Amino acid sequence: MIGLGRFGCHLAGSLTRLGHRVLAVDRDPDRVQRWSAVLDRVVQADATEEQALRQLGIDDFTRVVVAIGASVEASVLTVLALTEVGVPQVWARATSRKHAKILASVGAHHVVFPEAETGERVAHLIVSRMLDFMEFGDDFAIAKVPVPPPLVGHRLRDLAVQERYGVMVVGAKPAGERFRYADPDTVLGPGSVLIVEGGIARVQQFAALR
Ligand code: ADP
Repeated sequence: MIGLGRFGCHLAGSLTRLGHRVLAVDRDPDRVQRWSAVLDRVVQADATEEQALRQLGIDDFTRVVVAIGASVEASVLTVLALTEVGVPQVWARATSRKHAKILASVGAHHVVFPEAETGERVAHLIVSRMLDFMEFGDDFAIAKVPVPPPLVGHRLRDLAVQERYGVMVVGAKPAGERFRYADPDTVLGPGSVLIVEGGIARVQQFAALR
């Protein structure tokens, strides 16, 4: 993980909680000191320097994330250095569409644009009753929605959700219980939360049913 700003440290923390060993790199000694107490291995280095990366043994890593955002120059030069070293999977964080294009053109294998992705997702949540929403491209989405009031008390088999609403209910969480796979006998009790998938407009219309 290169760059322990707000994005990088959250990502490094999440990877650690998922059970992965993370080497974190930042050029700022204060950040290195602060995160040494929290993360497994934190070192100070300028990641734009290919030699410094080699000294860290970066060529043994299969995945490196460049989480630098504010300095486009540092982010691009770091990706270049990593591709020179031959890291098989370079993930890079972009802070604008142009930045994303440059990162891809200098060899980043995966580019994420967290501000744009989160902004888009949160926009969907703000204007709807959806509790969570994820778009997969090609007009396909999955959403977490409270059971629409007109469907409360009905069995999925009787509702013919797919035929009537064009979405598929794949999971249901009865009030106070855990999520379960939905099946034709699932009854949509009051306070249930559903996982539905389908075309974006259809998923939104389903969530808005009243
Ligand atoms: P955020 O928006 O997630 O807070 P920033 O871009 O502000 O991200 O922070 C990026 C981090 O990357 C900072 O901690 C900074 O010290 C570090 N950084 C910037 N340039 C380099 C570099 N050349 N080598 C290593 N770390 C760097």
